Amino acid sequence: MVKIFKDLDQFEIYRRNLDLEIKLLGTPHSIGVVPTMGNLHIGHLSLIHKSLKDNDTTMVTIYVNPKQFGPKEDFAKYPRTLKDDILKIKKLVKKQKHDSKNLIIYAPSTDQDIYPSRFSSVISVKGLTENLCGKVRPGHFDGVATVVYRLFAITKPDCAYFGQKDYQQYLMIKKMVHDLDLKINIYPMPTKRDENGLALSSRNQFIKKDERAKALSLPKTLTAIKKIFKKQSFEKAYPKAIKEIQKKMKDKSWEYLEVLDSVTLKEPTQKTPILVIAGALKLSNTRLIDNKLVEVKYVH
Ligand code: AMP
Repeated sequence: MVKIFKDLDQFEIYRRNLDLEIKLLGTPHSIGVVPTMGNLHIGHLSLIHKSLKDNDTTMVTIYVNPKQFGPKEDFAKYPRTLKDDILKIKKLVKKQKHDSKNLIIYAPSTDQDIYPSRFSSVISVKGLTENLCGKVRPGHFDGVATVVYRLFAITKPDCAYFGQKDYQQYLMIKKMVHDLDLKINIYPMPTKRDENGLALSSRNQFIKKDERAKALSLPKTLTAIKKIFKKQSFEKAYPKAIKEIQKKMKDKSWEYLEVLDSVTLKEPTQKTPILVIAGALKLSNTRLIDNKLVEVKYVH
């Protein structure tokens, strides 16, 4: 039976008992966590599947975190579909023949569990969060880092799984874990896409029919820029890519489109081994983000 907790006190009793059990058994036991905001799709499920394969216990958290939404953003309309999410997780467990007793869902029913009254701490990871999404969504990454820290403190995992789709978020969490010495392994997971290449996202349901082609221009553009780097050396490809980006950015729907060093998220240097091509596109009802990684060839 998949265990579901909506109350922090109950979850914490379970979590303490799990520690006791692990101690009594005396055998190694790894705990994986998959933090999500729910409205699960195949992308989320791939993270859960991986955690179930790699760990003795998997904890999926489902929580729409108010702190990572700006005042004009879509917090109120963010899809909340807990019943369906639980069904999808149960189906995955059955289909992949995972042992259901290894899976725990923690879906707090109140913000108080995550942010008790007078909660006043903010985790802010400098250096990786000022550009790209950080620039257009001020405060967003502080909100993400703070909630992920809280969820780590509650679940106490050995490892955690994050999607490459939110690449800047993944890098930030890795840095936070390193800086704060949290001793949690952070694993990036490949982006799951639909048959046309659009990255799956809970926000795709807000794409209007007549905006579908525009939405697809996001992965198409990233792929086209990636091809430039595949074909030729960095020295030749980079100026071409920049020209292509400048052309695209004339369309104001693009919030950003950049080619950066995939480790520092800064302008690439002659030593950058892997680039990240990252884009964000604003549609009438939603915004989409995506990225592609590409290995760099040098002539020297
Ligand atoms: P969210 O519920 O949007 O906060 O996402 C929860 C986790 O799922 C994050 O680590 C995301 O990066 C990851 N994720 C979201 N979309 C995808 C996707 N299309 N493929 C793989 N992982 C994803």
